[in-house]
Amino acid sequence: MTENKETIIKRAEEAVLHTYNRYPLVLEKGEGVYLCDTEGKKYLDFAAGIAVQALGYHYPGYDEALKRQIDKLCHTSNLFYNIPAMEAAEKLVKASGMSRVFFTNSGTEAIEGALKTARKYAWLKDKREDHEIIAMKHSFHGRSMGALSVTGNEAYQAPFRPLVGGIRFADYNDLDSVRAQLTDRTCAVILETVQGEGGIYPASEEFLRGVKALCEERDILLILDEIQCGMGRTGHMFAWQEYGVEPDVMTCAKALGCGVPVGAFVLNEKAAKASLAPGDHGTTYGGNPFACAAVSAVFDLFEENQIIDHVRRVSAYLEEKLDDLAEAYDFIKERRGKGLIQGLEVQGRPVGEIVVKSQEAGLLIITAGSNVLRLVPPLIIEKKHVDEMIEKLVSAF
Ligand SMILES: *Cc1c(COP(=O)(O)O)cnc(C)c1O
Repeated sequence: MTENKETIIKRAEEAVLHTYNRYPLVLEKGEGVYLCDTEGKKYLDFAAGIAVQALGYHYPGYDEALKRQIDKLCHTSNLFYNIPAMEAAEKLVKASGMSRVFFTNSGTEAIEGALKTARKYAWLKDKREDHEIIAMKHSFHGRSMGALSVTGNEAYQAPFRPLVGGIRFADYNDLDSVRAQLTDRTCAVILETVQGEGGIYPASEEFLRGVKALCEERDILLILDEIQCGMGRTGHMFAWQEYGVEPDVMTCAKALGCGVPVGAFVLNEKAAKASLAPGDHGTTYGGNPFACAAVSAVFDLFEENQIIDHVRRVSAYLEEKLDDLAEAYDFIKERRGKGLIQGLEVQGRPVGEIVVKSQEAGLLIITAGSNVLRLVPPLIIEKKHVDEMIEKLVSAF
């Protein structure tokens, strides 16, 4: 028999380092777009494990692909070749039109690799050891030291200084502010194509095109972080594809494995030809057959089931319904987002309270920034789930 919730929470708090103020729910199983806790309460999941479970839970074909790989081989190290890594890399190259893939275990590690790529690219040209990177205010790129150094959030950074040096911050969607940070040592600009954690802000087309032009002009690398907004969420496999602005380096994670921890950084031909070489970068687990079997299955299932076309259809309906909410409630200042990464900016009411009330109503949503409700559901939601979400959210209001 499962222990009661209070006991589980108490035991967890006595053994697990308290780095999260968790909601008092113990989730036990999932099916489709629903999760179930240990008390048998059912939740409509519009959080998807923070934009990870793009295919929901137990999507047909996914579990089977993982089980097949477990029965063969889970790990070999990167000293040898393995078939799932080859296949997953080919699929990622094909979907992005880019050139080479390095698999990691998480998003933050993908960012580390992208930053090292940029430093090495510049170093090969001039052998200087003081290269700079321009990052954005209100960005989020992860919690390891390099990724934290380009994360424009003072509260996250302060206790951990000194961070990686040579980072300058510009304002998102403000090309002049990027220009103002350029020096003869700049080696890269890093940004999220849609800022996620910072409050759901999509890049403007003018800004993204402008940054790309600056990078080309100076021969520095454009790093686009697609960890949250990529993998079909915006209605394009990668959010930058809508803008027609190809990065030199792209980072992926979250929905890349749909629940299996895996990330990647992907280089275009220019970056791949003149950056990391044998001895420059490595990982023990990264690219292991188990994780890569998940990546491979995800790409196959996306294609077979036309997930991206589905996102375009259902997200139009979601946007319409959220716009109606923004119209109906004065405390909703605006809706922002693309496809199935949507935010409702709230004023005059604590968003945390709305999240808790939603849980009571059987709906999981999360927040972004200090005043935004974030909706990042599984990509397989149907219109009826949008209706159910709206109904529950309204009762929470
Ligand atoms: C989640 C996230 C990361 C960090 O990924 P982890 O797997 O948590 O290390 C980096 N960038 C963006 C945009 C993210 O949303």
